[in-house]
Amino acid sequence: MRQSSPAKPVRESLQRPKGTQDATPADVIAWQQLESTVHRVMRASGYGEIRTPILEHTELFLRGVGETTDIVNKEMYTFEKGDRSLTLRPEGTAGVVRAFIENGLSRLAKPVRLYYTGPMFRYERPQAGRLRQFHQVGVEQFGLDTPASDFELLTIAMVLLQQLGLTGLTLQLNNLGTASDRESFKHELKATLRPVLADFCPTCQTRFESNPLRILDCKVPTCQTIVKSPLLADLLAAEYASPESQAHFQQVCDMLSQVGITYTRNRQLVRGLDYYSGLVFEIAATDGQLGAQNVVCGGGRYNSLVEQLGGPQTPAVGFAFGVERLLSLLPAPTPVVVDAYVVTDNPARWHTAIENWRHVHGLTVVVDISGKGFGKQLQAADKCGARYAVIAGDAEWDSQTLALKAMQTGQQQMVPLAEVPLRLLAVD
Ligand code: ATP
Ligand code: MG
Repeated sequence: MRQSSPAKPVRESLQRPKGTQDATPADVIAWQQLESTVHRVMRASGYGEIRTPILEHTELFLRGVGETTDIVNKEMYTFEKGDRSLTLRPEGTAGVVRAFIENGLSRLAKPVRLYYTGPMFRYERPQAGRLRQFHQVGVEQFGLDTPASDFELLTIAMVLLQQLGLTGLTLQLNNLGTASDRESFKHELKATLRPVLADFCPTCQTRFESNPLRILDCKVPTCQTIVKSPLLADLLAAEYASPESQAHFQQVCDMLSQVGITYTRNRQLVRGLDYYSGLVFEIAATDGQLGAQNVVCGGGRYNSLVEQLGGPQTPAVGFAFGVERLLSLLPAPTPVVVDAYVVTDNPARWHTAIENWRHVHGLTVVVDISGKGFGKQLQAADKCGARYAVIAGDAEWDSQTLALKAMQTGQQQMVPLAEVPLRLLAVD
């Protein structure tokens, strides 16, 4: 995102907190385009938007994200208020599941199709693509555990990212199997890693007991080397999922092939959260400028979370993508064009006409309210990049004919008031 340096140095304590961003009007155009595409695609697919609080009880995330995850261990913004511990949400799924239960949405016809957008907060070391306040768009589908349910979610993720303008998308999938399949895989993984545990980073040494699967996607190079070495090759090639789970996964893959969505199976893909079982996936996009791959979207199936948070047993599947990371991969959008800049010493007199141009004809019209002379106002019209200056003085009022100056060419013509909007709408 464009972040211009302040015109005057601002005292550090009065600057925005580290890892947060301002979006000025020029930046916000891209956000608004993204949001309107998200709403359009989700509405077209029968998903309804859900809005939940940014603050939740800390307990929700301890239970809903998992006490062994990086998010809960290191990254939450938690504070006490009264005798309550509250947390700024680090992700969207836990809140959506809570709202699903609390508002009785589980009684609706299955599947219940929901999506959300909004800010998330994680206390991470700020760096490129990693912020402390960032935004996610997420999609959750409750009530079914069928291959078609996984397929619908995956196709929505791919279509959404395509419609948002991303190119070079690659989809990686894995099957974590059922909770008990996962346990036997964990057991084997620990047995294989135990002899070389000392070679892993300190975090992975802690993860070994608390969340051993997470070792597989540790980003530390020495850990990566071990994980990719022949030591783990057999384990990662073996199939731990039960036959039913394998058949389910295979059907999802077949459906993707049938519609021409290519994917690769990545057996190292486990995702950070505790609650996943069955399908997990990530989507990366090719960065136009760098040619590098960038993971923008991740998700998977979580069949036990609703029950874990006190609701009825309800299978579910979902994904989320990071808005800032996605926007950084897209070309800058075209700025809003001002169709007409009204040069006048009497804005009230022209008000009705201007409102008609704006709201009946959909034109972007800016009125000069500086009270300066027409020469200065024409300079302002030029500075704001308007297509036309519309000169609206006393003579124009008397004749009900306005002077339209095309700012690109400098050509000026007299146009009767009633024809002004049509002339402004004409493509240059
Ligand atoms: P990573 O491995 O990059 O830390 P993650 O597994 O923590 O990602 P998720 O919790 O799955 O990420 O969130 C989904 C998406 O949200 C990510 O793919 C990314 O686009 C975005 N995201 C996550 N953390 C941040 C952050 N700190 N700043 C900006 N975007 C983020
Ligand atoms: Mg993370």
